[in-house]
Amino acid sequence: MLAEVIAIGDELTSGQRLDTNSQWISQQLGEVGVRVLYHSTCGDDLDGCAQVFQTALQRADLVIATGGLGPTADDLTRQAISQAAGLDLVLDEDSLEHIRSMFASRGRTMPEQNSIQAMFPTGSTIIPNPHGTAPGIDLLFRQTGHEASRLFALPGVPAEMKQMWTETVSPRIKNMKGTSDQIIRHYQLKCFGLGESDLESRLPDLIRRGRSPSVGITVHQGTITLRITATGSDEAECRQQMQPTIDTIHDCLGDIVFGDEDDELEHSVDNLLQAGQQTLAVYEAGTGGMITHWFGEMHPATPHFLGGIVGLDRTSAERILDLALPATLSSEDATRALAQAVRNKYQADIGLAVSPFPRPGQDNGHFYVATAGDVETRCQSFLFAGHPDILKPLAAKRALNFLRLHLKK
Ligand code: AMP
Ligand code: MG
Repeated sequence: MLAEVIAIGDELTSGQRLDTNSQWISQQLGEVGVRVLYHSTCGDDLDGCAQVFQTALQRADLVIATGGLGPTADDLTRQAISQAAGLDLVLDEDSLEHIRSMFASRGRTMPEQNSIQAMFPTGSTIIPNPHGTAPGIDLLFRQTGHEASRLFALPGVPAEMKQMWTETVSPRIKNMKGTSDQIIRHYQLKCFGLGESDLESRLPDLIRRGRSPSVGITVHQGTITLRITATGSDEAECRQQMQPTIDTIHDCLGDIVFGDEDDELEHSVDNLLQAGQQTLAVYEAGTGGMITHWFGEMHPATPHFLGGIVGLDRTSAERILDLALPATLSSEDATRALAQAVRNKYQADIGLAVSPFPRPGQDNGHFYVATAGDVETRCQSFLFAGHPDILKPLAAKRALNFLRLHLKK
């Protein structure tokens, strides 16, 4: 069974508001094993919406729409469905009574224009809305030469939509022919240290469309997420289906995989510090406190991160750390010295230092990262390259990844 989710409203197409309804509904459909192939968004326009509904009813077995069921002139969803399906709108007396009583319970008389909310396409069933005036529409749409499609239209207000989904729509979908008792589950592996296509080329055709379980790849500020999706009758079966794929990814990528699900590099570093019963202190020149911030944001707070010093000024660094530094902080010697000094200052097991960054756009600009432990100090230079918007977080991640690999040794 294929589903399409439709979001309706000018506030969505104009960019004023993010369509969170479609995201939530797609997650709910995934939970019950329904694959969503299309998301459509349309502004408050009768012909536009009618066209979107027509297309959806032809290509999807299940169509879920939110928005546009209100009483005002820009709420056109019921008219659009009526136009797309070629069905008249008829008044439902019980719904009208419900809407009247909603107003009465708030000490108001129902404005005449609200009666439109009691109009439904012929043959449709009503989806009760216990806390709002707009009931939803449940329509089984039969068309010649096609399997019938089922359409659910719900109000846009997220709280009302979710309650109606849980109480009415979800049970009705589970009873539909063609829905299986299968569930869909996802598992994410997080990777750092390779570009997207290099990483993909190391995996034996796992990203291929149509593969089961499927593997999707997304990248965010240098962190690559491999998302494995499996269908099964319960959690255990889904996990069992995924396991060989997970093993293959670990075999092919080795150290490139740093964690799973919502892990970031700092979580992986923290786990390694925990495992080795070690503590960390950092000196950040180029990263300007970003690494310290990431550790500070961790929940629960980590006892392994002792603190960070931020600064580009050599004289201040010398005074705070009580040492003499080379003439420029942008050097291997200075970065090594900073890593050792911050380790001493905090009496930490490991010191991490990041040198100042070169000017963006400077050809072959490099920066240095050093880690100091009790026996040795390691330093590596990295190219300061990438999209200007993500240069800093990317460099901060390179530094953390260098530390992670140091801790793994
Ligand atoms: P409507 O049912 O179109 O009158 O929408 C009522 C309100 O619900 C809108 O003003 C939005 O604030 C919110 N809303 C509508 N559609 C969505 C959506 N797809 N995602 C999140 N909020 C929405
Ligand atoms: Mg609207």
